[in-house]
Amino acid sequence: MKRNRNAKIIATLGPASSTPEEIESLFIAGADVFRLNFSHGTHADHKARLDAIRELEKKVQRPIAVLADLQGPKLRVGDFEIGKVRIENGNLFRLDMDPALGTDKRAPLLHPEVFAALNVGSELLIDDGKVRLRVERHGADFAETRVLVGGEVSNHKGVNVPDVVLPISPLTEKDLADLEFAVEMGADWIALSFVQRPSDVAEARRLVSAHVGSRVRILSKLEKPSAIDHLIDIIDLSDAVMVARGDLGVECPSEMVPILQKRIVRACRLAGKPVVVATQMLDSMVHSPTPTRAEASDVATAVYDGADAVMLSAETASGDFPKEAVTMMDRIIGQVEKDEHYRVITDASRLEPEHTTRDAISAAARQVAHTLGAAAIVTFTSSGSTTLRAARERPEQPILSVTSDVEVARQMALVWGAHSIMAKDVRSFTEMVQKAVHFAQSEGFATIGDKVIITAGVPFGFSGTTNVLRVAEIEDPNAPHGPYRHVSNE
Ligand code: PGA
Ligand code: MN
Repeated sequence: MKRNRNAKIIATLGPASSTPEEIESLFIAGADVFRLNFSHGTHADHKARLDAIRELEKKVQRPIAVLADLQGPKLRVGDFEIGKVRIENGNLFRLDMDPALGTDKRAPLLHPEVFAALNVGSELLIDDGKVRLRVERHGADFAETRVLVGGEVSNHKGVNVPDVVLPISPLTEKDLADLEFAVEMGADWIALSFVQRPSDVAEARRLVSAHVGSRVRILSKLEKPSAIDHLIDIIDLSDAVMVARGDLGVECPSEMVPILQKRIVRACRLAGKPVVVATQMLDSMVHSPTPTRAEASDVATAVYDGADAVMLSAETASGDFPKEAVTMMDRIIGQVEKDEHYRVITDASRLEPEHTTRDAISAAARQVAHTLGAAAIVTFTSSGSTTLRAARERPEQPILSVTSDVEVARQMALVWGAHSIMAKDVRSFTEMVQKAVHFAQSEGFATIGDKVIITAGVPFGFSGTTNVLRVAEIEDPNAPHGPYRHVSNE
């Protein structure tokens, strides 16, 4: 089975999409990666979903990536005497460490680190920014605030503190337990929420590498202004990045979200790291079988910008039309990628290769494939790096990513244009060409008469540099000179 598109689809699983049948129908509709959201559900729920995905992989014979998304230090108010209160504009409202039930004058906020980091004038945003408070006075265990924008506040609503860097790790006790569990059960990617600084990513990396044999990759969710201040360093330390527009849009003014989205996508493309655009992409499809025009346009913009993947959250996790949402995303991506302007934009936004052998080869592969009108670029990779550098070029042809490592094969499901294939490591040039030609045909990308462009790193089977470029033409197996002919010299 192959997909006829470059941009990938991430579908979040939840109560609306948990049975093996539901998960399969989302995969068939176009989901390439499944996200397990550890903000909801039990470990048993997530394990059952992962098991269903692994069963599905066997059935459809395609590697599928599992992204375990950790909740991170999401701050919340405590509970209220009567479940919810209305707080009025201009009034004083107190947040403190007293666990007693809240009223319309005060509420518990059992996060001492917040009080320690606040300044007079800092803003506290409740319930996705619907209620705004400004700090007038604060101590070690309280903050006296003025209500700038009032409204209803109910039990356990989220609190954002955009303009302070909180002295907290992005991994809470719960996250540490969830991380442990996700790595043990074999998630392919771990998403870190509310990353504030580069050292947060480094800390997660240390924890992950303490797991002997785990090669899970780390995706940093950018949803704090402080993360944007350290954008380049965070991208550098991460394996992938998400433009997490939900919390980003609470912590930053709405008008900044599209600008930051473009800035983050471009910085990730420059680094050659996969980038995901997430949240509210087809939000109205939570309750409607069709999206708004603005939503269709939003998905299209992310695809024109060259994002590796677009994500569905509540649409597939708890919505009424999970399958329709994936189908709609698949159709929007398909249409954009067929538009001739898509290629014009993609070529115009191409980035200089780094001055390395692997980038020189990857850039040449893209160009040779273009000049020859090749059917596919076949990358042989042990770490995924040859595939990632080929994807950075955003070529016209699909990228077949051949690897002997099942984890790499799954991880590449998140990567722009990559179609993973599991195969034993090749040991010679002849075998490399034979396999490339074979897979290009058996996976439905090429036929007799087509050319494929091959990149690999020699010696074979080691992760290292990409240093080989080869052109092969697929010939009729009954032709006198054999099933393929080497077009280039070794
Ligand atoms: P969340 O992350 O859905 O876990 O909050 C995504 C976002 O904030 O956009
Ligand atoms: Mn978030």
